[in-house]
Amino acid sequence: MFNTLSDRLTATFKNIKGKGRLSESDINATIRDIRMALLDADVATTVVRHFTSRVRERALGAEVSKALNPGQQVVKIVNEELVQILGGQTRPLTLAKRPPTVIMLAGLQGSGKTTFAGKLARRLRDEGHFPVLVAADLQRPNAVTQLEVVAERAGVPCFAPERGNEGGAAQGAEGTTSYGDPVWVAQAGVGQARVRQYDVVIVDTAGRLAVDEALMKQAADIREAIQPDEVLFVIDAMIGQAAIETALAFQQGVDFTGVVLSKLDGDARGGAALSVASVTGRPIMYSSTGEGVKDIEVFHPDRMASRILDMGDVLTLIEQAERAFDQRQSAEMARKFMDEEDFTFEDFLEQMNAIKKMGNIKALMGMMPGMSGMRDQLNSLDEREFVRVEAMVQSMTKFERTHPKAINGSRRARIAGGSGTTVSEVNQLLERFTQAQKMMRQMRRGGGMPGMPGMGG
Ligand code: GDP
Repeated sequence: MFNTLSDRLTATFKNIKGKGRLSESDINATIRDIRMALLDADVATTVVRHFTSRVRERALGAEVSKALNPGQQVVKIVNEELVQILGGQTRPLTLAKRPPTVIMLAGLQGSGKTTFAGKLARRLRDEGHFPVLVAADLQRPNAVTQLEVVAERAGVPCFAPERGNEGGAAQGAEGTTSYGDPVWVAQAGVGQARVRQYDVVIVDTAGRLAVDEALMKQAADIREAIQPDEVLFVIDAMIGQAAIETALAFQQGVDFTGVVLSKLDGDARGGAALSVASVTGRPIMYSSTGEGVKDIEVFHPDRMASRILDMGDVLTLIEQAERAFDQRQSAEMARKFMDEEDFTFEDFLEQMNAIKKMGNIKALMGMMPGMSGMRDQLNSLDEREFVRVEAMVQSMTKFERTHPKAINGSRRARIAGGSGTTVSEVNQLLERFTQAQKMMRQMRRGGGMPGMPGMGG
């Protein structure tokens, strides 16, 4: 599945993978190739349009990344957008808070519903559940028997209607056969499961070869009657462009909570299946990949995307590069945040000089980080004190300015002497400075602006 699409995309990326710079025309050419590849794979045109415009916009606006080269960045963007059209997140099965969880299956005849019912039951059984199948597909003559066979292979029980009056006349109403009313059968099946304490009930419903109203009405009636926790729409991944129309018809007629892509093991173009999540807004939850009872996979949009891009290795590389880069960056950030000496007297001096150059000290002091909260103190601020503070800082060595903690008793005495101030004034300055540093760190961590301890002394 998706082999052709994969090959085409891989070839496209080969052209740009190693490039150090991508021009707008490189990007346009790449987008054109991607568009053709998707359309040829039967991906719905609306989805292709949305996809390529997103990729183009992001590729053109991509920030210069230190971790990735431009080609890698485009691969990354395509991958991320592909994950999005496939539904974004992996969507696990919803289990009812009060069992049994009721799962209803809907879809066209031949889509792989019955086969999937067995696979899902088997998987749930393997996970420790007690599932039961309910045969509410009374349309096809041997559907019930088929489900019984499937159940046996899966090793789970199957509730089927009594074949009491098989020879009898059909009972008139559309969708009603000698087996009885499928709505009633479904309801009775769920009821039995409850009584017998099964914790998951999987209800197989009838399909038709094409969408028709009676089928929809019957499925909607069953839904109404059994109030399922999940309605899974099973769709044959090989049906091409008709997938969209079919999915939308089922969404309107019955609505569903999730999609199952069946026959993903086939080698058809399969792109239409890729449009289903995007067109219906419903997540793809499982894929069916063969006729065996174990050929079922939970659908992970991210894994499927990298499978389609056939770039597991490149994507891993990209991830690693980014992670390494992030680590370097976050280590740097952590160091800054943790480092006591982060905001130094050097910075302080620089800011003071900037302020002096700009004139009105009191007004501008209010703009200095950590100082805007001290209107009152600012108003009582004496210009002469400002001069004294500056003198003290000027009397510090470069080492002392960048390592205020190292300023011990003898250094304090020296600074006081050099600036014509007292040791107690130096002590006050250092104390206020330590508090200011603490506040800066808090602000950087996003803690907002705490009240400023007095600078006015
Ligand atoms: P239903 O009418 O929707 O219940 O469809 P069935 O479960 O009877 O499947 C129709 C046919 O498709 C059967 O021959 C199945 O063996 C086959 N089938 C179902 N699922 C898959 C699948 O995932 N891969 C392949 N290759 N065949 C499948």
